[in-house]
Amino acid sequence: MKNESANLAIVSNNTFEASKSVNLHHYDISSALQTTLEFDKLVNIFSNKIQNLIPHNGFVYENDEFALEIKKGIVTKHSCTYALKVEEMQLGSLKIMRRQRFDDEEIKLLENLLCSLIYPLKNATLFNQALKMAYTDPLTKTNNRAAFNDSLDREIKLANRNSCHLSVIFFDLDHFKQVNDDYGHECGDIALSAAANCIKEALRGSDIVFRYGGEEFVILLSNTNLDAAKAIAERIRQSIENHTIAYGMKILKLTASMGISALRGNDTNESLIQRADNAMYRAKDNGRNQVQIESTALLA
Ligand code: GH3
Ligand code: MG
Ligand code: MG
Repeated sequence: MKNESANLAIVSNNTFEASKSVNLHHYDISSALQTTLEFDKLVNIFSNKIQNLIPHNGFVYENDEFALEIKKGIVTKHSCTYALKVEEMQLGSLKIMRRQRFDDEEIKLLENLLCSLIYPLKNATLFNQALKMAYTDPLTKTNNRAAFNDSLDREIKLANRNSCHLSVIFFDLDHFKQVNDDYGHECGDIALSAAANCIKEALRGSDIVFRYGGEEFVILLSNTNLDAAKAIAERIRQSIENHTIAYGMKILKLTASMGISALRGNDTNESLIQRADNAMYRAKDNGRNQVQIESTALLA
């Protein structure tokens, strides 16, 4: 038990010393933690379950891999922070906060109790990594088509419920077949990733980019009307146009055509996307390397 615990977590300026006296608490906490694979629920259950043993006023759990910051309670003068890790897998950090200083016994107990959180956190990490992979396009590291279908449904419902704007940018690289023909497929892959990065860099955290297929991407912009979406698309267009891709001794440039639509009251998933797609084709017909908004003639 002693060795196992010592390997379970890296503790800032401290080391674990396991004690059999906490086994009963472990059992109770472990059972409760086995009921979920959600980080939010795990840390809340842990905090609740240890409250009797180690009274505290709040906690902060941070996990960079999944961009999580889960907070509860109040920020206090005293705290102890643990960088949690098992078998070289980073599991985030947990800060337990309290008005009064933690004494040595409490710290020892807390560190023992943390052992019961480690494996449930590892399971949650593996589960969420698998979910993330299932929804990520391996080449461009953007969300894939499966993620798009789920997200579009959710974003439309959210926008309708909260009476918020939702805009869609349909993005297609220009003459991309020619890139493959001239420079080879490997270079085409590099160019595609570079284009995806230009898109990602031009967006806010709440905007989501999806690889819709081949050299086509869709961007969902929540709380964004047609004009604001047009400004964002124009920023992406310029960023792609100004970007130079180096492939060995060769240098190439890309351009993209984009079409934009904004959610209307009677829209289905398909109709919203269709209008953005139509606008994108208009951008192609008008000479490419440009942004077109959905036809105003169709506006209700
Ligand atoms: P347009 O301006 O009309 O969009 O012309 P285009 O050449 O971009 O359009 P087209 O649909 O004719 O060709 C798309 C090309 O994108 C063909 C396909 O080989 C290439 N492509 C799609 N996915 C990938 C990929 O993952 N990697 C590489 N290297 N090429 C891809
Ligand atoms: Mg295409
Ligand atoms: Mg194309």
